[in-house]
Amino acid sequence: MGRRTSTFLLLGVIVLAVALLAVVGLWSRTAAEQQLAARGEGILKLYVGNLAGRLSRFETLPQLLAQMPEVRGVLADQDDPDALTAANEHLAYEAEFTGALDIYVMNADGLTVAASNWQTEYSFVGRNFAFRPYFQEAMAGRIGRYFALGTTSLQRGYYFAGPVMLRGGIAGAVVVKMDPAEIETLWEDVEDRIVVTDPDGVIFISSDPDWLYDALRPLGRAEREQIATSRRYPGVRVTELPITERPSDHGTATVMALPDRGERYLHQSTHMPAAGWTVHILTDLRPVDAQVVKAVSLVALLLALAFAVAAAMRVRLQSLRAGMEAERRTAAALAAKEEAVRRANDQLEQRVRQRTAELEDAHAQLTAEMVERERVQADLRQAQDNLVHASRLAAIGQLAAGVTHELNQPLTAMRAYADNARILLARDRLTEVEQNLGRIGDLIDRVADISGRLKRFASRTRAERTPVRLDDVLRTSVELVEVGSRLPDLAIVNGAAGTDLCVLGERVRLEQVFINLLRNAVEALEDSPLKRVTIGLHVEADTVRVTVADTGPGLTEEGLAHLAEPFFSSKRPGEGIGLGLSISNGIVNDFGGTLTAENRPEGGALFTVRLKRADAAASPSPPPAATVTAAHV
Ligand code: ADP
Repeated sequence: MGRRTSTFLLLGVIVLAVALLAVVGLWSRTAAEQQLAARGEGILKLYVGNLAGRLSRFETLPQLLAQMPEVRGVLADQDDPDALTAANEHLAYEAEFTGALDIYVMNADGLTVAASNWQTEYSFVGRNFAFRPYFQEAMAGRIGRYFALGTTSLQRGYYFAGPVMLRGGIAGAVVVKMDPAEIETLWEDVEDRIVVTDPDGVIFISSDPDWLYDALRPLGRAEREQIATSRRYPGVRVTELPITERPSDHGTATVMALPDRGERYLHQSTHMPAAGWTVHILTDLRPVDAQVVKAVSLVALLLALAFAVAAAMRVRLQSLRAGMEAERRTAAALAAKEEAVRRANDQLEQRVRQRTAELEDAHAQLTAEMVERERVQADLRQAQDNLVHASRLAAIGQLAAGVTHELNQPLTAMRAYADNARILLARDRLTEVEQNLGRIGDLIDRVADISGRLKRFASRTRAERTPVRLDDVLRTSVELVEVGSRLPDLAIVNGAAGTDLCVLGERVRLEQVFINLLRNAVEALEDSPLKRVTIGLHVEADTVRVTVADTGPGLTEEGLAHLAEPFFSSKRPGEGIGLGLSISNGIVNDFGGTLTAENRPEGGALFTVRLKRADAAASPSPPPAATVTAAHV
């Protein structure tokens, strides 16, 4: 619902409520006033009846008294003191008896000749009331009724007058004065205002003494003058009550208000023609106001309650609606979230699919690459094999150059043995000659072996590996190097002498390796003050480590970097061609070992040969090696 609509609705409800309250107010007022009017009418009737009864009590009294001899007597002889006394006493008695205020007898001139109050200070006797209308009425032979304030007694009274007939004429009048206060005392406890007005509308009997001699309606000038000349209210200033009056909905009743005093009355009246007065009852309307206020308040309260209930219901409805809306929104949000999750899942699945496809592609590519690589590797291996073969052929060339180098050792040794044999022969030391010849024979075998090896090397067969006694290899190598050396103070310390260890390899080729290492070491010692070569032996699990250390200058940096490369040599041309270490490295590698070089911290080079250890039992028993020492040279 729009804000405007609800505002209009609210306005409509308020207008309706106000209208309803107005109707309720009007209705309750009418009802209450009606009730009051009915009640007022009843009371008024009651009071009128009561008043009429009271008046009738005195109405006939003058005529009765006019027959009394005392009354007649005093009028017949107005100078007879006895008659006067009798009349006075009788009137006093009658007044006492009837409850009248005063009873008196007037002569034809209006002079009071006898009165019930003859003994009081305000005695009427001797006073003339000829101006009173009741006297004039009586003198005209009728019953006079009149209300007035007594000129002598200054007491209110209702006068009844009747003629006294004497000798066929009207000799005077008997007057009975009634006290209206008597009536008022009866009204003292009455809630409503009850007033009686004279023909001029002036109040002369009132349940509230304050209202006495006030006019109940506006007076005209003529009326005022007439009131003044009538001397009805001597010494009293008649004022008009500040009244506004309007007709009501209830018969003859009117609503009379005294705005100055804040008083409102329901005004009902009945005229009493015989008495010439009007009886009014004024019912206070303020209780009606209170009643109306009460009724309106009650309805307003009920309306407010209904409104509150409606508002509460509306609020509840709104909150219910809001709750439903919130639930709907939550459900929508949930659905949106589910949708988002579903979409994310879809995306994820798609990505997984994509990724899988990519991976499969990559895998296929990789497989292809692997196949290609294997093919390339196979090609490479083929190329390598070809290269190895080619390099072996090249090495033959190198070796051809190195044959001199290789053969130099045995040749030098043979030369030495031959020279020695000749000298020994000259000295006739035949046994030693034979020994030397034996050695020469061995060396010839060796040369033959070297040439055979060259043959094998050219072929592509792999080196044979058999267990070789390390002690044999090292001893022969040391011997040959020592024999070939020209250094007088050279010391080769074979720390492995006498070992039982066997390694996998080939004896002559292993000797070739160690001869190479030892000879290099010896050559490096040429300028060194201490000329010592030390062979060390260490066993590590299935590996045998043989070290060759010297006290020479050690390896240069360049030497360390290029040692195993063929044709690297620091020696003068003719002294070395740089193949020794390269060949040795190849041999050791062929036997599954390694050859490494380093410089010792204390100076000198250290070469390490690592070979596979072989079971000693499997080694063939070595031929008894000849001991060749430098001393033989
Ligand atoms: P060559 O002995 O014919 O020069 P090698 O291959 O046997 O060829 O040696 C290469 C080089 O390594 C030598 O020229 C030398 O400079 C160096 N070298 C080898 N052994 C030693 C050593 N024990 N002390 C110092 N230098 C060495």
